[in-house]
Amino acid sequence: MSAIETEKELSVYESMAARFDVAARKLNLDDGLYKYMRCPNREIIVHIPVEMDNGTLEVFDGYRVQHSIARGPSKGGVRFSPQVTLDEIRGLAAEMTWKCAVVNIPFGGAKGGVVCDPEKLSRGELERITRRYTAEILDYIGPERDVPAPDMNTDEQIMAWMMDTYSMHVRHTVTASVTGKPLDLGGSRGRREATGRGCMIVCDQALKRFGRSRESTRVIIQGFGNVGSQAARLMYEAGYKIIGVADLHGGVFNSRGIDIHALLEHAHEAKTVKGFAGGEPIDRAEILEQDCDVLLPAATESVINSRNASRIKARILVEGANSPTTPPADEILFDRGVFVVPDILANAGGVTVSYFEWVQDRQGYFWTESDVNDKLKHIQIAAFNDVVRYGEKHNVNNRIAAYMLAIDRVAFSLKLRGIYA
Ligand code: NAD
Repeated sequence: MSAIETEKELSVYESMAARFDVAARKLNLDDGLYKYMRCPNREIIVHIPVEMDNGTLEVFDGYRVQHSIARGPSKGGVRFSPQVTLDEIRGLAAEMTWKCAVVNIPFGGAKGGVVCDPEKLSRGELERITRRYTAEILDYIGPERDVPAPDMNTDEQIMAWMMDTYSMHVRHTVTASVTGKPLDLGGSRGRREATGRGCMIVCDQALKRFGRSRESTRVIIQGFGNVGSQAARLMYEAGYKIIGVADLHGGVFNSRGIDIHALLEHAHEAKTVKGFAGGEPIDRAEILEQDCDVLLPAATESVINSRNASRIKARILVEGANSPTTPPADEILFDRGVFVVPDILANAGGVTVSYFEWVQDRQGYFWTESDVNDKLKHIQIAAFNDVVRYGEKHNVNNRIAAYMLAIDRVAFSLKLRGIYA
């Protein structure tokens, strides 16, 4: 069976492992390190009892997977969703290890999740789930151990509850215990825009390689949440022409360019980009196949797969979302000469500014927004150049280059530390 035929069976962890295997082979990774780095350090499963508003008791499953602490405390978001599985959290935790290593920040990787549907929960229920989940994993988290952050369906308020729960248990306020907090509780300036800003920074670098200007570059964005809407706004304000935007409910297309400020207002009221008068309606999946220069998937995983990869017309793919492209689609895009800026590089702006938040909390001294943005730019440009040069040197595509670079860095730290027996 070809890789493409097996695509449907590849889970998030298996996709990560498939790429890890290719990179490890190219690196000639030692057998022992291969086994060690391919699996997580620790997996925590908790069953969270929560009193619901109607007086009944519900039990929610929760996970925290710590993939690696080789380069520092593990770091990664917590997602709340009915579809969360341990396999998905395991794969995403490993991706966090590689992401932190690609941008060379002193963290390992982790991810967490609670199986619940936030749309069906009251604010009080959400708070009780968050606090009990935090209490259940408390012995394994903290500024020196593992630092959670927001992810799908979790936000600044949930991070404030996590930080407060942690702090109540240790009897003093520990703002560095989580990142992505509100500004008034030790959050960092620039964190909210960081992932979208990072996408623009790497896109600018890709344009340079093609000798293109922002003004002549047509961009399509799938997803208009934290990442997609911030990337759209920043890129629009910087001169890019955004010709298509879609979310879960539908999309809008305008070859002359969309007024993103007006779209943001519409989406604020309507809770979707669908129905925006400044363009033609378009299907959320169809939008990926429209003619454009840059495609920026910023919604969810596996949206570019073996079924549609050959119809992608973009010259440059900037992966705002985690795992938007499946391994078989990678091959198709590479054969067709699409320049891919892989997720662990393109969307690393979020974790980079989370790192800045952790540093500021520990210093008790807060930076200006331009300090944050300048430092982010410096790190992402360096990481972009590292990945592209690594790919050229080893004759591999950017995705495998990013994996190789990250695995090499983590393996080096592991070798220096040795194995504790
Ligand atoms: P979000 O929940 O704020 O927004 C998600 C957006 O995608 C929404 O507009 C939603 O309607 C849309 N969407 C969901 N499924 C879709 C589909 N099938 N087709 C089209 N649109 C769809 O989430 P976010 O924080 O913006 O994260 C988006 C992606 O980026 C995720 O993969 C996340 O893991 C990744 N990511 C986020 C950050 C961050 O800082 N928020 C950092 C790194 C990576």
